[in-house]
Amino acid sequence: MTRTSQPASATTIQRQAAFARTLPMEDTRDFDDAIRGRMDALPDAAYDNEAGKTAWSLAPYGFIDGDDCPDTVNPSLWRQARLNMIHGLFEVVEGVYQIRGMDLANMTIVEGKTGVIVIDALSTVEGAQAGLALYRRNRGNRPVSAVILTHTHTDHWGGVLGVAGREDFTSGRIPLIAPDQFMEHAVSENVLAGNAMRRRAFYQFGIFLPPGQQGHVDNGLGKTYAGGQAVLVAPTDLICATGDTREIDGVTFEFQMAPETEAPAEMHIFLPALGVLNLAENAVHNFHNLLPFRGAQVRNALNWTHYISEALEMWGDGANVLIGQHHWPVFGRDAVRDYLEVQRDLYKFVHDQTVRMINQGLTPHEIADQITLPDSIARHWHARGYYGSLRHNVKAIYQFYMGWYDAVPAHLDPLPPVETGAKLMEYMGGIDAVVARAQADFEAGNYRWVAQVMNDAVFADPGHDGARQLLADAYEQLGYLSECATWRNSYLFGAQELRHGIREMPKAAARPGSALQSITEAQLFDLMGTWVDPSKAEGVSLVLDFRFTDLDRARRATLRNCALTHVPISASEGNGAVADVVLDIRRSDLNQLIARAVTLPDLMADGRARIAGNPAALKGLFDCMAPVFGNFAIVEP
Ligand SMILES: [Zn+2]
Repeated sequence: MTRTSQPASATTIQRQAAFARTLPMEDTRDFDDAIRGRMDALPDAAYDNEAGKTAWSLAPYGFIDGDDCPDTVNPSLWRQARLNMIHGLFEVVEGVYQIRGMDLANMTIVEGKTGVIVIDALSTVEGAQAGLALYRRNRGNRPVSAVILTHTHTDHWGGVLGVAGREDFTSGRIPLIAPDQFMEHAVSENVLAGNAMRRRAFYQFGIFLPPGQQGHVDNGLGKTYAGGQAVLVAPTDLICATGDTREIDGVTFEFQMAPETEAPAEMHIFLPALGVLNLAENAVHNFHNLLPFRGAQVRNALNWTHYISEALEMWGDGANVLIGQHHWPVFGRDAVRDYLEVQRDLYKFVHDQTVRMINQGLTPHEIADQITLPDSIARHWHARGYYGSLRHNVKAIYQFYMGWYDAVPAHLDPLPPVETGAKLMEYMGGIDAVVARAQADFEAGNYRWVAQVMNDAVFADPGHDGARQLLADAYEQLGYLSECATWRNSYLFGAQELRHGIREMPKAAARPGSALQSITEAQLFDLMGTWVDPSKAEGVSLVLDFRFTDLDRARRATLRNCALTHVPISASEGNGAVADVVLDIRRSDLNQLIARAVTLPDLMADGRARIAGNPAALKGLFDCMAPVFGNFAIVEP
């Protein structure tokens, strides 16, 4: 019998209350800052997509409406969840406005002489349109003079075509300004391991976790993940050096490069005439992620602290207000300085103390259990881990310097989870006996241990109902207790999948699609390499030349030893004497072919592809590749 979501246990209720007593609840300034300057709002911040369906709405979160924190939510997270309910159009200072609470991220709008400069475009076209319309309803129908993208994450550029048309950008009529290396990183971060990242993002963001006191309450950075159309457009003006400036529509923008921080390409912006400092996503109101659960390359904590420090040096004396591309502003020169000093020291402290413990011989789980923030940092709400967390960020720092191996030889080659689980259950007297003992530990509130041992039990026997239910129950109490939204989401989503199985992925997300258009040929062939199935490629040896008829470029791919390698060749070099086959094709058609949206005979019949040499070689390549898409199990084998 599948149990449904359980209430908070007596132990959980007690721990929430004890935790609440450690929090600086008397500091309520964030609520004033978050509401300050509000000019207008849409009911529930809601807007629709093209099909007339709700694309975003805070209505399902209406239960988050007072200090009375339910005992199924960590009191600190509840506070952040309340702050992230505040939405609408806000005046930061005269001439600078923000759209907040209408997406995971913010849109900042700076008024120029004749129009507006938009900083970041939210996650979706629908969101950007709704945000800009709300601004115009209040400030007049001002045209867009330029768009600035602060960094490479989708929630900051996905909606760019909701702000202006593609032609406006490609013709140069509206400058699209971004940090150096923007295109190289905007998509590449999600390409090779994209399928796994999509799947793991369901855990991180609690996508399909129903909003509620026992379900989804927040994502830390903002309320939730926006669905809709995200389109990447190449920037037309790159910022390449700290100190670069642009005069746009009568407004001076100063830039600071901050690469390899929260994103691989990111920059900070200062408006000297207005004293407005925008640190993009590097100093928002939480301890950010050094390694998000969806999976990513680990981030550089030392860079992070360095660029905040540099920003303080450059602009600390002139910054009257600090804004970010998530959350609410910090008002007042002293407050801005204090805030940035604490953010700077937060990353530095955690970095330095982790490295110190590494050098003392501590391993990741030990560091996570021993490190605590000094009270002088922890008492600031913005230093708390609502998106990242102290306990997983220290493991990211360990990974950054040391990698996955903790030097304990027993961890060099352990049995995989299923075999480990089976052996442990056998040694401990059988799974029924283990579940009975774990039940006693659950009653005693030892949820971390119960989760650990019941995970082994489920991997030993995923059909054991008692083990599944107890694991789900332990995950759930851990979720209720988590201050970090991404921890809560992961625990509760894990419990949901144990109880109800894996929900089918939406069809659109289950195919290689739009991402293929935005990657380079090299990235495309790298991706194809990850689809090679050795059981089919064993013994196959092929050389294939791809000539891109629309790009005047070509690439030679070699499949040998079950590995697909590739090198660029000149467009005229494609050579049937060397290659088994030469294919003339437009890049967009190759994307379609790879995504299996068209077939080669169709393309050839239309004259969109031409082959010289042995067509069987091409079929041979495609027969050896199996694109990897769709869901996989996480909380069970
Ligand atoms: Zn963001």
